[in-house]
Amino acid sequence: MKQVGISYKQHKLDENYDCIVIGSGIGGLTVAALLSRHGNKKVLVLEKHSVAGGFTHVFHRSNYEWDVGVHYIGRTSDPTMEVRAAFDYLTHGELLWSKMPDVYDRIFIGNQVFDFPTGTESFRQQMCSYFPSETRAIDKYIRAVHSAQKLSSLYFAEKAIPSPIASCIGGLLRYGFLRYAKKTTSQAIAEYTSNPELAAVLTGQWGDYGLPPGQSSFGMHSIVAHHYFEGAGYPIGGASRMAESIASTIEKGGGCIAISAYVEEILVDQNKTAFGVKMKDGREIRAKTIISDAGAINTYHNLLPSGVTQSMPEKKLLGAIPPSFCHIGLYVGLKHLPEIANYGDSNLWIYPDSNHDLNFARSCENIDAPFPFLYISFPSSKDPSFLSRYPGRATIEVITLTSFKHFEKWKNLRWQHRGEEYEAFKNRLSKRLLEELERHVPAIKGNIDYWELSTPLSTKHFANYPTGEIYGLAHTPERFNARWLGARTPIKNLLLTGQDVAACGIAGALFGGVVAASNVLKKDMMAVVARGNH
Ligand SMILES: Cc1cc2nc3c(=O)[nH]c(=O)nc-3n(C[C@H](O)[C@H](O)[C@H](O)COP(=O)(O)OP(=O)(O)OC[C@H]3O[C@@H](n4cnc5c(N)ncnc54)[C@H](O)[C@@H]3O)c2cc1C
Repeated sequence: MKQVGISYKQHKLDENYDCIVIGSGIGGLTVAALLSRHGNKKVLVLEKHSVAGGFTHVFHRSNYEWDVGVHYIGRTSDPTMEVRAAFDYLTHGELLWSKMPDVYDRIFIGNQVFDFPTGTESFRQQMCSYFPSETRAIDKYIRAVHSAQKLSSLYFAEKAIPSPIASCIGGLLRYGFLRYAKKTTSQAIAEYTSNPELAAVLTGQWGDYGLPPGQSSFGMHSIVAHHYFEGAGYPIGGASRMAESIASTIEKGGGCIAISAYVEEILVDQNKTAFGVKMKDGREIRAKTIISDAGAINTYHNLLPSGVTQSMPEKKLLGAIPPSFCHIGLYVGLKHLPEIANYGDSNLWIYPDSNHDLNFARSCENIDAPFPFLYISFPSSKDPSFLSRYPGRATIEVITLTSFKHFEKWKNLRWQHRGEEYEAFKNRLSKRLLEELERHVPAIKGNIDYWELSTPLSTKHFANYPTGEIYGLAHTPERFNARWLGARTPIKNLLLTGQDVAACGIAGALFGGVVAASNVLKKDMMAVVARGNH
């Protein structure tokens, strides 16, 4: 793995840039690459962590490598698909993809198993074979998902076009998508079926957007469901290849990435215009444009001076959208076992029963209640280069969602110094997750070589999300109804990028970067990235 970026301390930084990007997640890297490649701008990306990439970074222990926030990405199998085309453009075609198996997600509800195969028609037929009396409902549901997804591009276009035009035609652009997005997923699905099993299967990927059906926006559900209808892919060489290959585009354009570079404050003058950043060591770096990938909550609450934000309506409105929930993740290293291939490399989503909302509420209330779901991923099997990079080894990740409140009491303690009680709590959770993993993937019994648990405090520490939130702002109907939330901010020359601009997920955060770049360059950058590597 190539190191991306140069340490802030060793970097001979200039005093002035065209643009400073705070944070090197996929949203930050995307806008930096677009401004470099298309806008000819001198860009500096400042990343607080010692590894660039945000949730696309990987980490290593005992000769294993795990990804953090990349398990599968839809619409990557074909260069004509918008996500693949965007990556081809951002990386000059350097990032290569491996296709996931035909069944990319396998949903377990109680004792029943439901496969999500590649292709909308295959998905339709599969669902109809499980629920033969619900054919009409399934058809209506698929049509609604397609329609909501199609309308979402108009909704997001409002955030990309110049604000005077958006003020005139924004209502028209928003209207269609909001008809779907203002409903919760449960409300929308109830219009098509009253069968709770079918509803539970159709929402079996709710962990991908972090809110159970009773709380999530059907707009978000549709974006994610559609994103995977045509299957999914994984970057060859692992998730870190994303930052590596986008960084080379930034560097080719004369830009650079500084790691271990903590931005403490965004500098704003009396005219409410951003003109630079102040680093943790007190140094000031200036730029014509500042773009924050650090999330809306960090930007409004922690990076902008409180004197500037205290009278801002946006800061108050932000309080109406909660942060998303957080995750715990078990990273497992083991001997490479051919038997694991029997699981087909599909992602496994394991639910105790069909009541997603109740199960989640119960475990948010009481951490000892059964896990609301387990998401089991086999990252080493998804990457055809893994075995040559790590001979004889394999990795598995187990993820579930929870509430920050279970971790709150340790939130001010330092990483690796949170004390015995915290370690015991983590051990208890790890044991439960390991037992569950061995129950569902018995072939691994006796072959586990290494495991480690990440908690919401790890997310807070490494990615700077104040409550360890997995997906930035929660994807509720209110979020999509918040017209003010997008790349533009009330501070001149300050923009947002990443998952709070468009939506969570690698593709969502990437398109947040495309929206931000469109605002800076006053050009439809979606049309540019859709061309792919040409
Ligand atoms: C466990 C997990 C699994 C996931 N699985 C998938 C998946 O399979 N498929 C998919 O499409 N999506 C997945 N996602 C979601 C996806 O990873 C995210 O939505 C996306 O990467 C967010 O990108 P971003 O650019 O908005 O932010 P981030 O990747 O969070 O980047 C923000 C960056 O800003 C930096 N930063 C913050 N504050 C400062 C500061 N003051 N100074 C300097 N730097 C700062 C942070 O360190 C971070 O690097 C997953 C996420 C998680 C956590």
